[in-house]
Amino acid sequence: MNIKKSGEIFERSQKSIPGGVNSPVRAFKSVDRQYPIFIETAKGSRLYDVDGNEYTDCIGSWGPMLLGHNNERVLEAVKKSLDEGTSFGLPTEKEVELAELIKECYPSIDKVRLTTSGTEAAMAAVRLARAYTQKNKIIKFEGCYHGHSDSLMVKAGSGLLTFGHQDSNGITEGVMKDTITLPFGNSEKLIEILDSEEEAACIILEPVPANMGLIIPEEGFLKLLREKCTEKNIVLIFDEVISGFRVSLGGAQELFNITPDLTVLGKIIGGGFPVGAFGGKKEIMDMVAPVGNVYHAGTLSGNPVSVSAGLETINILKENREIYNTLEKRTKELVLRIEELIEKYNIKATVNHIGSLYTIFFSDKKVENLEDAMATDDKAYNTYFSSMLEDGIIVPPSKYEAHFISWAHNNEDFEKLIAGVEKSFIAINQ
Ligand code: PLP
Repeated sequence: MNIKKSGEIFERSQKSIPGGVNSPVRAFKSVDRQYPIFIETAKGSRLYDVDGNEYTDCIGSWGPMLLGHNNERVLEAVKKSLDEGTSFGLPTEKEVELAELIKECYPSIDKVRLTTSGTEAAMAAVRLARAYTQKNKIIKFEGCYHGHSDSLMVKAGSGLLTFGHQDSNGITEGVMKDTITLPFGNSEKLIEILDSEEEAACIILEPVPANMGLIIPEEGFLKLLREKCTEKNIVLIFDEVISGFRVSLGGAQELFNITPDLTVLGKIIGGGFPVGAFGGKKEIMDMVAPVGNVYHAGTLSGNPVSVSAGLETINILKENREIYNTLEKRTKELVLRIEELIEKYNIKATVNHIGSLYTIFFSDKKVENLEDAMATDDKAYNTYFSSMLEDGIIVPPSKYEAHFISWAHNNEDFEKLIAGVEKSFIAINQ
């Protein structure tokens, strides 16, 4: 495969952009590649790079493109919105419509505030929890990513782990001290810490962690979190930036029937445009300015173009909830076929799967938390990545991410994927 032009652009890019990219995982460094592919266009399940190569896309912009790239209806809504004006700094009716739609799909949300990114939404939710409980500390889980705000950048999953770090430099000791981290899924450690810790304002988690590779939660663990948070006056925050509108219209909270106090959303609710949201119980949300004194603001919060794309995306999903069943069925079939290949080629690998998400972990053990994910084979993952790329399939350039299947993936994509996986397994065995 010729990707020469991408290499040339990367040369140029490194002179003006740190590491040549605007988000670290994009650099392909962790999968032992010298440079990433630069994308020119996308349509449906496919990406097209600057060298004219076509790829089946298993990244889906890291989650937003559940319907595939450039869905006709979403595109129409965006074009209409562009004609009407791109940013006003004043409210629009569409924002109200999106808030109403989110509320309808997430009964735990009485009120919701839009942001421009998931990072901002998670940061605001934590601030709100602190104000509400008048306590300072936050509890998060190792390997869960909640964006790059200071207090949430401790043992923070994929982007950092990809480069061998667990925390970011530049965060004060005081901030680090206020963030308690626990292994995901470990009920004993959770109970132990909650028995001794009186200062916890919130527990924030990805109910379906997808930033240490995909981890499937135990329903009992989520239930325990709910019980303990109620008992100890701790705000339970579900970060559903990936799982929201992905594992089900009502997210992981609908799937597992657990009601958080606050929910963080992003990705799909912007249909491919910059967006985030945090919402929850009225009594908590009414502490946000201008009603209360917890400040949150944003020049482009609730941007009309993002909101139009999000509204159309959610409306499509709401009108046709069969999309979720079909996506689940197709992804499950794909995963079963991958598992057959794992057996056929005697590969040390295991696949975690839920809805339209999956991760192939190169390990002969089940992967249930960050420690397990870190112990998986880097070399095998890198071989898998490069082999897939050569075959015109773009999978996550890090073993700590999930594959995202979209509504636009067709039989041709699935056959290509299976053939690609088989070839990669042969390469791993060489
Ligand atoms: N929360 C989760 C679970 C995420 O996966 C991400 C991003 O991948 C974020 C928060 C941060 O969102 P954003 O990248 O929009 O700031």
